[in-house]
Amino acid sequence: MTTQKPKSANTRNYQRELDRLLEQLADAPRLLLHSCCAPCSSYVLEYLRKYFAITVFYYNPNISMEAEYRRRMAEQKRLIDLFNQLPDSGHSISVIEGDYEPDAFYAAAKGLERCPEGGERCFACYELRLRRTAALAKTQGQDYFATTLTISPLKNAARLNEIGERLAQEYQISWLPSDFKKKDGYKRSIALSAKYGLYRQNYCGCVYSQAADVRGMPQEAAAHGSGAVL
Ligand code: SF4
Repeated sequence: MTTQKPKSANTRNYQRELDRLLEQLADAPRLLLHSCCAPCSSYVLEYLRKYFAITVFYYNPNISMEAEYRRRMAEQKRLIDLFNQLPDSGHSISVIEGDYEPDAFYAAAKGLERCPEGGERCFACYELRLRRTAALAKTQGQDYFATTLTISPLKNAARLNEIGERLAQEYQISWLPSDFKKKDGYKRSIALSAKYGLYRQNYCGCVYSQAADVRGMPQEAAAHGSGAVL
């Protein structure tokens, strides 16, 4: 007799889970979508706005410089304005600008400054942003919360989904599972970024990623830090 191992987070197919959930949706539930930047959100918004009434929550205290934070925010708003003008593309999209509070990031990253990208510092960074999103979603009576971060081929989608599910329990609000890079989502985000001339930053956001050497990265990833860095 063979014993079946429990399915670990690493073997779960979050895209398939999302597909199943989308098939069962009725009406247009409210979704609070954390977004790291306009390029990453482009595909996600195009994809999900057919199903959800989306509010984008731009909350990224990890970004090291305020001018960069504002620049990415402005680009996020510009993209949403463009999308809202497209006829028959889905529900209208709203946006909420989160506070710029780098101290919150430095507190979360304390002691983890020397971790390589993709390690514990990044997991703390994911949690900081998702926790604030979950709390706001709860306050606002949203039906779901999610993040664009899973679109990056180099970000840890399993860890993002684990954190999202844990916060969903804590805040009693539904997490929308995702792995947006699947179904060529990442490729589509690059095409949309080119189509709309979106600003694509060359580092993930924090001061540590700014210092990272991107020479070994794939060209597309190196050209877009938010997609490039874990
Ligand atoms: S590299 Fe990116 S995900 Fe990691 S801590 Fe810095 S900003 Fe956050």
